[in-house]
Amino acid sequence: MSRERITIGGCPKCKSDLLTCQHNHFQNDELEIHSWEHKCPDCGFRQTEAFRSDDEDEPFDPILASKCPFCGRPAND
Ligand SMILES: [Zn+2]
Ligand SMILES: [Zn+2]
Repeated sequence: MSRERITIGGCPKCKSDLLTCQHNHFQNDELEIHSWEHKCPDCGFRQTEAFRSDDEDEPFDPILASKCPFCGRPAND
């Protein structure tokens, strides 16, 4: 499990400079999960998205999953 969080600012709710973008990556033999979270410590704004390789509804695209769906930044790990 790797975790990486950066401060990106520009909260869509309160315009705070402290909005963070966090990426979690989990991988083992059968399963890979990328999850993304934007969170604002000032107003509590939060949005999350997860991409799983075992999701049957949506085909898993590792290139798409390694980019933040909210701000578009690529994962560093
Ligand atoms: Zn905010
Ligand atoms: Zn982001």
